[in-house]
Parts: sequence; structure tokens; C-alpha cells
Amino acid sequence: MPASPEIREAIRQGSWIRKMFEDGVALKAERGEENVFDFTLGNPYGDPPAALSAELARLCADPPPGLHRYMPNAGVPEARRAAARSLSRSTGLPFTEDLLVMTVGAAGALNVALHALLSPGDEVVILAPYFVEYLFYIRNAGGAPVVAETDARFQLDLAAVEAALTPKTRAILINSPNNPTGAVYPEEDLAALDRALSSAEVRFGNPIYVVSDEPYRKIVFRGVSSTPAAAKIRNTLVAYSHSKDLNLPGERIGYLAVSPRAADAEEVAGACIFCNRVLGFVNAPALFQFAASKFEDEPADVSVYQENRDVLLDALGRSGIDVVPPGGAFYLFPKSPVPDEMAFLAAARDEGILVVPGSGFGRSGHVRAAYCLSPETVRRSVPAWERLGRRYSGKGTRR
Ligand code: PLP
Repeated sequence: MPASPEIREAIRQGSWIRKMFEDGVALKAERGEENVFDFTLGNPYGDPPAALSAELARLCADPPPGLHRYMPNAGVPEARRAAARSLSRSTGLPFTEDLLVMTVGAAGALNVALHALLSPGDEVVILAPYFVEYLFYIRNAGGAPVVAETDARFQLDLAAVEAALTPKTRAILINSPNNPTGAVYPEEDLAALDRALSSAEVRFGNPIYVVSDEPYRKIVFRGVSSTPAAAKIRNTLVAYSHSKDLNLPGERIGYLAVSPRAADAEEVAGACIFCNRVLGFVNAPALFQFAASKFEDEPADVSVYQENRDVLLDALGRSGIDVVPPGGAFYLFPKSPVPDEMAFLAAARDEGILVVPGSGFGRSGHVRAAYCLSPETVRRSVPAWERLGRRYSGKGTRR
């Protein structure tokens, strides 16, 4: 047998992604790049800050001793201290470098956290719609994903979370600002989640950790307030990444931090460091640990995403396409005006708009549009969205 049946099945289930990509390539060849508006990929828009490129050049020209050598599995102390200081400032909690491991992006951080926490068969609650990779990361660690729905505005539905908790629940994975919806969870909901988990912990007799996936933490729109989960939830592990705030997704740099308030924080952090090693990462990329350490408090440039979001919300509003305004990240998750989202997706394609089906994120009847594109492209897409909306005028549902 060439590959494991589980992997073959996972590839089969994900084959729609490749199909959509190939379809997009074909459409661009047929109509010309400039007539196709590709909202399928969550690749951040723009280049890393110029100061970061300068810092990289400086590090290469005048490297710190041992820059390219093996290092502690948790990462270089300077980088961990810088991340801990930044987290302490934003949460008001005393994060220290001992509770922090530099990782291969948020994806690395999530895999490390789940491996460190789970025993075979342990359950991890995820909130639909969810980032589809969560299913694979949980299974990588021998765990079982348990889906709880969010409400109609993609916010935490506490009753649904409570119903999903069992004596086998080891963790819940949350993501705010959210991919695919852009939802940002308010402070009071995070506090309510903490209370619900605390009472479940008493009932079941073991801690339940919140793994807070925060690659979009710094991408929050005007007028929206965003509270770090660790500030409100005791047993938090923070998975962070510089893929989106510094436009570095190809360089694979992020960190995992265990809250100083978490149950058995030191033991969990030690387990995370061990898992970073044995999962084969060994350590996060050295050059980018040094470089990113100077930019932990650097704000993300939200201006392009803010502009694109405003233009699209306005266009969709005029087109009668129902969408919950996102509070952060760079995704819209509009509702399909007809129950069959694939029919809506095909109609969008006819108008030159490429989006991905919501069922890929565990919530059918929707599509996801990633608006990490140039503002010029997004503005040029407006007539296409309007034509798409006109196809359904009178049939749409308003939230
Ligand atoms: N989590 C979410 C919700 C994401 O959208 C992504 C990437 O798109 C990741 C994690 C992985 O990010 P990274 O590039 O830091 O591994």
C-alpha cells in the first residue's frame, strides 16, 4: 500500500481545494488575469516592513555568535524574552521566557500544543465555522475533534460549548479574530467561557485548556475592541505567528506561550518544548527568531484590509448579499442567497469572482472571501459583486 489509508482519505476530502485552484488558473487563462477576482487564498497582502528587511540584512552582515548553530529547543532567549514582554504588556500577566517556545508559525505552535496536551482519544472542542486544518492537527496528536456551532453572528454560543464538553475534553481551540468569519470575541464572552470551563473542570476533575490561535491578533478594525484570551481565561495557551502581522508566512515564525495562570503551567511548557523537538521542528528558524524579536510590539498595517473590508461591505450591502461585518482578520463569510452554496459559488465564478465554499470550514450555506488583495483589485471587483447580487435580488435573506 503506497500511503496510509487515513492520509489518502484526508487528501481525498481536501481535493476540492486543488480543484478550485486549478479552476481559478483555467478561468484566468480564459478571461485574462485582470478580469478574475481571486478571493480564495489567505496570503497576507504586502511586504514585510522595511525596517525588518534592514534588520535581516544587518543580521546577515554582522551575525550574532552562533546564529546558524543548534540552539535550545525552546528558541533563543532574546526572542523568547521579547515575546514574553510583549504578551505581558498586552495581557497584564507575568509571562516569562520559561513559559514560551518559539515555533514554526502558528501551525507549528498548534501542533506542539495539541501533542503536549492530548492522550489518544482525548477530545478537543472546535467552533464552527473553523480553520479546516484544526481537524488534521487534532488528529495528528491522536485526539478527536468535537464541533460546537457558533451563533448566527459567528460568536461564541456558550450553551453549545457546554453541551460539547465531556469528561474526555482536554482542550478547546478558539480563534479571534477569526478565519473564516472575521469575528472578534468580546471580553465578556471570554470571561463567560472561563466560568463555564472552570465549572466543567470541577465537574470532571481535570483542567481544560483553551488553545487560543491568534495569528490575526493585530488585525482589528476601527471601533472594534479586542481582548487577549489569556487576560480573561485562566488555562490559556497562546499560539501566535508573524505570518500576518509582519507579512512573513513563508518564513514560518511564531511562538507558543503558556499562561502563568494556567494549571501546571511549567509542566505544560516543558512538554511543549519537548514536542517542538520530537515533532521534528527541533527549533524555529534561527534568523527569523532574531529578526522578529525586535518587532514583537510592531503594529500590523491594517489600512489596506480596513479599506477593502469597507468597500466590500458597502458593495455586498447594496447587492443584497447578507454578511456579518467582520471585526478583524481579512475574511468575509457571506451567506449564500440560495441553500446550495455551490450554485452561488458557480454564479460568482460566472461573474469572475472566486471564493471558497463554507462547507470546507464546517458551515455550509456560506462562502469565504479572503480580501487580502490590492485595494485597486477589490474596487474593480465591485461591479462583479453587484451583478452577482442582482441575480438574486428579492431572494436574499437579511440577518
Ligand atoms: N490559524 C489560522 C486561523 C490561520 O488562518 C492560519 C493561516 O492562515 C494559521 C493558523 C497558520 O498560520 P501560520 O502561517 O502562522 O502557521
